[in-house]
Formats: sequence, C-alpha cells, structure tokens
Amino acid sequence: MERLQQKHTPDDVKNAFRRYLRANGIKDTGARRMILDAALDLHEHFEAEQVLYLLRERGLKVGKATVYRTLPLLVDCGILKQVRFDVKQAHYEHAYGEVAHDHMVCRRCGLIIEFAADKIQALSETVAKGHRFHVISHRFQISGLCWDCSIACPIAAGPLEPGDG
Ligand SMILES: [Zn+2]
Ligand SMILES: [Zn+2]
Repeated sequence: MERLQQKHTPDDVKNAFRRYLRANGIKDTGARRMILDAALDLHEHFEAEQVLYLLRERGLKVGKATVYRTLPLLVDCGILKQVRFDVKQAHYEHAYGEVAHDHMVCRRCGLIIEFAADKIQALSETVAKGHRFHVISHRFQISGLCWDCSIACPIAAGPLEPGDG
C-alpha cells in the first residue's frame, strides 16, 4: 500500500486517495472527494462530526454514514492518522507535513497534549531492526489525567471509562 511521505501538495494527496480507491476497488464518488477536502481544511485534532459540520456549512449534502465510513479509508491510505484510540469517537489529524509527534490524552476532559520525543522514535527503530522490520509509523499514547483534572480529583487514578487500561 502507498504511504505518503512529508512535503506533499494537496493535489498529490487527492491523487493518492484516488489511486488508493481504485486499487481497492472502492468507488471514487464526489462525496468522498468533498470529505477529503473538508478533512484537509481542518487542522489539529478533529472528529467526524467536525467534518460533517464543515460540509453542512458549505452547503454540501453528504451523509453522516459516508463521512464515518470514509475517514477510516483516509487513515488506511496514509492521509490521516487516528489520534485517540480509547474512546468511541475517533479523533484524526493530518498524517503528512507535520513533525512526527505522539499524544497524551486526559481521560477526564479529553485534553490532548502533543509531544515529540526522539527516544521513542529511536526505540521503535531499534526494536524493528531486531525483527528486520521497516518502520513506517508507530502508535504511542499516554493515557492519564491532565494537571487541572488531577488537581480537581487527586485520587482519580482508576479507570474512568469501561474497557480502559
Ligand atoms: Zn483533563
Ligand atoms: Zn497530534
């Protein structure tokens, strides 16, 4: 599968998505293109609902189910990255043109803090090398409580969401 590297123009991204759809036998519909456009115009971390809202704001009629089904395709294609994995509502961000970083997610208020640590990058390379594995990306997320939430409830160290931990 094709993966996008850094420094791609929006046109490169759109063409890559088209090729991805074709290669996977998925219909290249106008709705999917509009969803990609909206996703490219959103920044930082966003949810499917924000994509939907932007499409509505633009007067475009794209079904909610189509948005929810298309975003994972954009992840699979390498255009988007899923940020949160511990909640039902996935959060996304652009997978290209940004400095590699990982996330800390507050379980209580949902705050997402980005950080970049060379040691994590280096560790994934070292571990992969030992298995003759080529690294494209990694997933590392610290789950916990932000400062404000930990102050508000100092003993709230237990899991706050079912299926957590
Ligand atoms: Zn918090
Ligand atoms: Zn991020």
